[in-house]
Amino acid sequence: MPKKVYVTNRGGHSYEAAEKFGEIIYITEGTLNRFATNSLYRAFIDGMKDRMTKLITENLKKKVRAGEVKCENCTMKLTEKDIDNEKCGSCGAPLLEALGGHYDSA
Ligand SMILES: [Zn+2]
Repeated sequence: MPKKVYVTNRGGHSYEAAEKFGEIIYITEGTLNRFATNSLYRAFIDGMKDRMTKLITENLKKKVRAGEVKCENCTMKLTEKDIDNEKCGSCGAPLLEALGGHYDSA
């Protein structure tokens, strides 16, 4: 996967120098209302979705390999293949449902 450089805001500066580190992803652009924390939060979630999904998937697979994750629907242990297929291999429940409605894997 090619490296990415996340720029929190595309302001009036040049970010060209950062291109040598990877593809530049601008999370927000221009003047923002710093008190509109909901829209800022959403912008960051969307802007970093690829990275977040990768991190969450890696964390989840680590837990699955350790045998720590069971399907909330059928109580069978989930496998890495289940994570890739985004559903429980035993009962067919969608991954989010199999995880009890949350992807957090802290
Ligand atoms: Zn299941």
